Amino acid sequence: MKIVKVEHFFPRQRARLVKITTDNGIVGWGEATLEGKPKSTRAAVEELADYLIGKDPLRIEHHWQYIYRGAFYRGGSVLMSALSGIDQALWDIAGKHYGVPAYKLLGDAVRDRIRVYAHWGIGSMTDEGKAQARERLEALQKQGGYSVFKSGPGGKWRGHEPPAMIDAFVERAYLMREWVGPDVELAFDFHGMMTPALAIEICHELKGMRPMFVEEPVPQENIDALKLVSDRVTFPIATGERLLSRWEFREIFEKQAVAYIQPDASHAGGITELKKIANMAEIYYMHIAPHCAIGPVAFSASLHVDAVVPNFLIQEQTDWVMGSGLLKEDWRVKDGFVELPTKPGLGIEIDEKAAEQNLDIYVEELGGEFYHESDGSLVDW
Ligand SMILES: [Mg+2]
Repeated sequence: MKIVKVEHFFPRQRARLVKITTDNGIVGWGEATLEGKPKSTRAAVEELADYLIGKDPLRIEHHWQYIYRGAFYRGGSVLMSALSGIDQALWDIAGKHYGVPAYKLLGDAVRDRIRVYAHWGIGSMTDEGKAQARERLEALQKQGGYSVFKSGPGGKWRGHEPPAMIDAFVERAYLMREWVGPDVELAFDFHGMMTPALAIEICHELKGMRPMFVEEPVPQENIDALKLVSDRVTFPIATGERLLSRWEFREIFEKQAVAYIQPDASHAGGITELKKIANMAEIYYMHIAPHCAIGPVAFSASLHVDAVVPNFLIQEQTDWVMGSGLLKEDWRVKDGFVELPTKPGLGIEIDEKAAEQNLDIYVEELGGEFYHESDGSLVDW
C-alpha cells in the first residue's frame, strides 16, 4: 500500500483537515488546525506531502520520526500541528486497513467509556447573565448528563488587580458551586493571563469552593513560575495545551510542576505522541485531560488515546467539536461520557461535501487584538 494523494481542506474556522488517500482506495483523515495560523499550517502540510507521496502509510512511527527529525529544525507549533494532522490520518488508514478502531492497535481499551467535560460558567452576575447561565447549565445536564464543567475568569488582567475585580470572579465561582452542588466538578481556565502572585492570590480565594483544577495559571514558557503556583495552592493545577511533544513536557514531569497535563492531539504530535506523553506522565502520577477546542477530527483522535492510557482523567469538548456538520454522525454524550468508537480507523465518517471546501476565511481566528483601555498596552487573553 502506498500514499498517492495528500489533500487539505479548511471548511471552517479552527478546522484544517488533512485527507490522505492510498493506492488501494483507503482514505484517512486528520486535523492539523493551528488556531490563528491557518495559512502557515497549510504550507507545512503541503511541504510534508512531497515526502509522503509513494510511502507506505502503515510505517507511522517512521514517518513521525522523519517529519520531526528529518529536516534538522524540530518542533514549533506549525510543524507539530501539521505532523499531528498527518499522524492522525495515518492512524485512520491503519485502522481501516486492519478493520479495527485505531485504539485496538494501541494496546486496546482500558476503559469502556470516555468521560468528557463541557464549557459552562456564569459570565455575568446581572439577572440576565444569571438566567442565561442557568438555562445553559440545565440544557447541558439534560442533554449530556455532564458532571464536570469548566469556565474562566474572563476579562483583562494586569499584573495585579484591586479586590473588586478578584472578588467579582470569586463570587461567581462560589455561586456556581451553590448551583451545581457537591457532586459536580468545576474547573477554571486562567488562560495564562496571570502573574504567579496574582494567580496564587486568586486560587487562595477559590479554595473554599473546591475546584477540580485551575488551568494555565501562568503562561507556558517558565516551568519554575508554574511550580511556584502549584507549590502554594492546595488543589490541582493543570497545564499543557501549548506544550508540544515529550520534550516540552519533560521539565513539567521532572519538577512535578502540575497535577494534570492537557496535551492537544492536533498540536503535540498526533495520536502517536499524545500516547507517549501520557505514558511518561503515568510514572509521575499525573493524569491527562487532553485539550480540544478545534474540530471534530481532533476530538475523535483524542478519544483513541483516552481509551488506552490508564492515567486518563477527562477529555475536553466544546460544542463545536462533536461533529457540527463535518461528521455524518455527531459524537453523543450520555451521562457525561462518550462511548468508545466502534468503526474502523478514527471511527468517524466525514461528510465529504461539507468537509472538502477551502473557504476564504483567513481572518483573525482568535478574535483580534486586545489592549488595556487604561494605557493601550497588550492584553494576554
Ligand atoms: Mg485552556
